[in-house]
Amino acid sequence: RTLVITAVPLEDGVAGRGAIAVIDDVTERRRLEAVRRDFVANISHELKTPVGALALLAETIMDERDPDVVERLAGRMLTEAHRVGRTIQDLLELSSIEVEEDKVREPVPVRQVLAGAVGRIRPAADQRQIRVELLEPDDDLAVVCDRRQLVSAVFNLLENAVKYSEAGSTVRTWAEADGDVVDIVVEDHGMGIPTRDLERVFERFYRVDQARSRRTGGTGLGLAIVRHVVNNHAGEVLVASREGEGSTFTLRFPVGAADPTALERTT
Ligand code: ADP
Repeated sequence: RTLVITAVPLEDGVAGRGAIAVIDDVTERRRLEAVRRDFVANISHELKTPVGALALLAETIMDERDPDVVERLAGRMLTEAHRVGRTIQDLLELSSIEVEEDKVREPVPVRQVLAGAVGRIRPAADQRQIRVELLEPDDDLAVVCDRRQLVSAVFNLLENAVKYSEAGSTVRTWAEADGDVVDIVVEDHGMGIPTRDLERVFERFYRVDQARSRRTGGTGLGLAIVRHVVNNHAGEVLVASREGEGSTFTLRFPVGAADPTALERTT
């Protein structure tokens, strides 16, 4: 902990007239500054890799005469370009979620949130031959939230569930009210997450397996987006996972957020 104490003389240089001591706790400021610097360094690294690959592929194409090879290299360029595009899109999403000014809060039926997110993941799930089961909650189960943010959080969880499961596997999502909280759950029977990594997976750009995340087109930002969304809604995200068996992510919101009259109180 660093406290900076600045003595401000009350009268120009005249000793003995007293001074005001300005005590400034710079520890937190320094920490935030370090987090920001790390983040910028990480972004630069994340973008430099695919952009470097793009440049190399373009150079190779310029000297290549075989149309089959050119086509293959162009395909790889497209993959890298998509990677850059997805990273930028996720960064924009993350920063728009961080901006609290344009926050919208309305009671949204959880059923609609799940249906919206499942609808978005279907094409990718079908392509990977993964079944997505939606156990529809009651119509009156609602969360006071920014609908777009909540759909995005559930979608990111479903996307991971699909990405880190094998073909033929089933991903399940449901919601339930339990005492003081509303839970939205996404469960998979995929590769799971080692216990030592569980705490870190919500950090920006943290991946358990770099190579696998790259192969599956991951940006390393999905769970950071999820964590931000729950923080914005006074909720929490829980994860239970066992390597080789699968993972269960739970978005938990206080029951106040499920109470439509809470809208009047929060706005
Ligand atoms: P990524 O874009 O790499 O998927 P995320 O922030 O969404 O980034 O997730 C961070 C890391 O957590 C992933 O790289 C992966 O290693 C791990 N992970 C997340 N969800 C799951 C899951 N359902 N099953 C197994 N591993 C997961």
